[in-house]
Amino acid sequence: MTDDAAAPICLARPLPDPGDDRAGGCVAVRGVDGRPLHAAALKFFWGPMDCGKSTMALQMNYNHARQGRRGLVTTRIDRSLGPQVTTRIGLAHSAIEVTDDLDLRDLVRDALTDGVRVDYLICDEASFYNLDHVEQMADLVDNYDVDVYAFGLATDFRSCLFPAAQRLFELADEVARIQVEVLCWCGREGLLNARVVDGRVAREGEQVVIGDTVDTADVRYQVLCRRHYRSGDLGPRD
Ligand SMILES: [Zn+2]
Repeated sequence: MTDDAAAPICLARPLPDPGDDRAGGCVAVRGVDGRPLHAAALKFFWGPMDCGKSTMALQMNYNHARQGRRGLVTTRIDRSLGPQVTTRIGLAHSAIEVTDDLDLRDLVRDALTDGVRVDYLICDEASFYNLDHVEQMADLVDNYDVDVYAFGLATDFRSCLFPAAQRLFELADEVARIQVEVLCWCGREGLLNARVVDGRVAREGEQVVIGDTVDTADVRYQVLCRRHYRSGDLGPRD
């Protein structure tokens, strides 16, 4: 290994001070209604753009709600730029916009204060959350018995992991690649999200730039196989 070989970056944060009641203020062996704690889990579902992550998030919310479970839906930088989860196939659901200052545990605590039990959290666009939010997700699972289902991209336009995605890979009880295949123009499985600026694959720039996969935008994204991502070949234009 050479000196300049890229070493993996550990994103672990110091564990919270046990005296910090924000870290464990709701620790209990039973839920607020006296139910035994079940085995809550942190699950991360990932895939490239257009693979149906938000659709799956809303379907999961629907399935759990039908069984009488109560949940909250959060998002960040949804393509609609509003506090909702929207999908390319036309579904939409109101959602809580996650800001840097938002503590996900406060959402659950506030609901409990209002007498509302929270069984699960659906966190859409989780790659855009910050590292503290991911730690809060783990805390909700471990100390609040809340299931957390996170959905997001794994890698950015440079093919590098988003920090929150990296942390989710490290901490999640279960990680699953969404199995709806997105195809590159060549027919191979799409894996990477290319940012296209002025008709060319961008290799540098801000990690998060809003754009869609429609063909008309100044900045757009196109899912490519690894071969064509690396060569920057966007395929025949029509
Ligand atoms: Zn290809």
